[in-house]
Amino acid sequence: LVRLRARLARSQTAFGRTMLALLSRDTLDDEAWEEIEDALIGADIGVAPARQIVEDLRTKVQVLGSRTPGEVRELLKGELVAQIGPDLPRGLRTEPHGTRPAVLMVVGVNGTGKTTTCGKLARVLVGDGRTVLLGAADTFRAAAADQLVTWGSRVGAEVVRGEEGADPASVAFEAVKQGVETKVDAVIVDTAGRLHTKTGLMDELGKVKRVVEKQATVDEVLLVLDATTGQNGLRQARVFAEVVDVTGIVLTKLDGTAKGGIVVQVQRELGVPVKLVGLGEGPDDLAPFEPEAFVDAILG
Ligand code: GDP
Repeated sequence: LVRLRARLARSQTAFGRTMLALLSRDTLDDEAWEEIEDALIGADIGVAPARQIVEDLRTKVQVLGSRTPGEVRELLKGELVAQIGPDLPRGLRTEPHGTRPAVLMVVGVNGTGKTTTCGKLARVLVGDGRTVLLGAADTFRAAAADQLVTWGSRVGAEVVRGEEGADPASVAFEAVKQGVETKVDAVIVDTAGRLHTKTGLMDELGKVKRVVEKQATVDEVLLVLDATTGQNGLRQARVFAEVVDVTGIVLTKLDGTAKGGIVVQVQRELGVPVKLVGLGEGPDDLAPFEPEAFVDAILG
């Protein structure tokens, strides 16, 4: 929580400060409420949720009569947490199945932070005493496999890679095969995120998943979304969610944006909970997503 707050502080508390200042005004007239709604929309919360929050807050503030900044903060916190969905299942399935490894696939558009997330995830699991194998199935970007190899040696995980331009599914197959044979606890498969055509993507990711499933259960398909990309990122994420059954979202680069409200939108749009957040480029900059702690952090 301390780290979350420290990491978000730089970029996000501007939102918290603005909101609290707006809500602490002496008179809250229609115009003031509109400004509050605009500030929420500006943080990428989305139009409908922003309206809902304002409507509920307005009622509560009226009921309260006089309000202290502390009360206002708590009310706002409650509304934001409610929109984020405090009860969504956010736990990550990483337990091995007997002697067979847990398998996690990481998907998303190039540049969102897939490879980095694979490395950070491996770090978390290795830190928990697990053995991890990384599969470099992003064979279209030569640097991606190199990058994953670097992560592997950094965090203490084996890496299986193919030739440049190799069939991603064959690399994924080899990775899981080796993971099963060497009895690692978890295999994390990095995939290519070329958004060429929807059918192309579907064929490719579908194939990767199918070949993996021949040998092991796919426990998580994590969709990586760059929090700084707004509506465009959301649109692209939707395409991925249409072609594979996504089990969780990893929202990256939250350290570099005041638009953390995208959490609300992406969950509404994709119907999948945000499970992890990326808070920087380093190996320890991945955190479980906790709605209350998150809202606390952005409200400062
Ligand atoms: P990929 O193409 O999806 O595999 O993306 P990469 O993992 O190569 O990441 C693209 C860039 O984003 C790299 O420079 C990463 O260091 C950076 N990056 C990834 N996650 C985060 C994050 O949570 N915060 C910040 N600030 N940068 C990140």
